[in-house]
Amino acid sequence: MINLRVKIDPLPLDEPIVVRLRNSLSNTPSEADAILIARDDGRLEYDFHGFSLVIHPAEPEEYDGDVILVLPGQATAHRLIRASSQHNTFLVTEQCDQLCVMCSQPPKRHHTDLFSQFAEAALLSPKGAVIGISGGEPLLHKDRLFEMLRTVTAARPDVTFHILTNGQHFEASDVAELLEIGTSRILWGVPLYSAHADTHDKIVGKAGAFRRLERGLGILMRCGASVELRTVVMRQNASDLADLADFVFTRLSFVHVWALMQMERIGYGRMNWTKSFFDTSSDFLPVATAIDRSVARGTSVALYNFPLCSVPPEYRPYAPSTISDWKRKYLDFCSGCGSRAACGGFFEWYSHNEGFAGLGSI
Ligand code: SF4
Repeated sequence: MINLRVKIDPLPLDEPIVVRLRNSLSNTPSEADAILIARDDGRLEYDFHGFSLVIHPAEPEEYDGDVILVLPGQATAHRLIRASSQHNTFLVTEQCDQLCVMCSQPPKRHHTDLFSQFAEAALLSPKGAVIGISGGEPLLHKDRLFEMLRTVTAARPDVTFHILTNGQHFEASDVAELLEIGTSRILWGVPLYSAHADTHDKIVGKAGAFRRLERGLGILMRCGASVELRTVVMRQNASDLADLADFVFTRLSFVHVWALMQMERIGYGRMNWTKSFFDTSSDFLPVATAIDRSVARGTSVALYNFPLCSVPPEYRPYAPSTISDWKRKYLDFCSGCGSRAACGGFFEWYSHNEGFAGLGSI
C-alpha cells in the first residue's frame, strides 16, 4: 500500500497551501513550485519562496511533479497528485445523504471546504491527468464543485474528471452549467443496485432514493453526459442482477458502461461483510446472466475489483485491473500466477479468511 500522506516539518501557516514539488525548475514554472535543494537520509529539503520545506518520506520514492496539500499545524501533508500515477482522487467531502450497507467511506457530519485548494492542485497536475472526485457525496456541495470544475476545465483543456456521485442532487437547472463545463470532460460514476426501488432504497439506507436517482439519471441523459453505472454485487441484490440488466437496456441504454463491482472490506463494508459479501468465485451465475443479457443487446459491461481467478475464463476479458495502485495487494498464491500482470488483485483490506473460496493461480 502506498501512503498518501507524507511527514513534513510543520510550517507556520494560517491557511492551507498547495505546493508542487520539483527536482529542478521546469519549463512551466508556477508560484506553487518548491525546488529540491538537498536530499539526505530520507529527508528531502525544498526551497519554497525562500522558506525551507522539509519532507520525510517513509520509503525512497520519486516526488518530482507531485502536488501536496499542507494544512496549518499538521506534521503530515496530503499527496493530492502523484505525478507518476493514474490514480489520483480528491476526497472533496466526507458528508453524504445515504448510508449504503457496503460504504467504504462512512459519512461524517462535518465538512471542511478545500475546493479552492483542489482546483489549484488540478491546475498543477501533469498533462492529460484524469482526476477522480469522490466523497461522501460531492454534489452536496454542488455550487463549489461546479465552480472548481469550471475553473479547471477553462484553464486546462487536457484535464478530465471521473466523479463519483449518488445521483440524488441533479436538477433540471444544472443542465446549462453541465453543458458549459463540457460533457466530454466528466465521466460520472453513479451507483444503482437494483431495478426494484425497495431493494435499492434498502441498500442505500434512504427512502425515495431510487426515484430521485431515476430523475438524476434523466437529467444526465438530457445533457448527453457520460455515465458509468455502478452496481456492487451483494447477497442483497445478486438475484436482481438479471432484472437490472433488462432495466439498464430498456431505461438507461445511454450509459457508457455498466460496471458490476466486488465489495471492499472496509468501513460499513467490513461491518456488514458476512451478511453482504457475495462470493462470485463459488457462484458466478447471477453475474454471468447479467453479462450475457447485456452483451446480447449491446450494453457495454465490465467487472470491477474482481480478482481474475474468481471469474470463469470466458468472462475474464470483462475484468480489467481496477483497484488503485495505492490500495492494491496480491496474496501468496499470486506469486506463481501467469495472469498477475493483467489482474488487479485485492484491496489492501481484503481478508482471505472471510473472502473468496475458489481462488488460485492461473
Ligand atoms: S492468483 Fe492472484 S494474480 Fe492470479 S488471478 Fe488470482 S488474484 Fe490475480
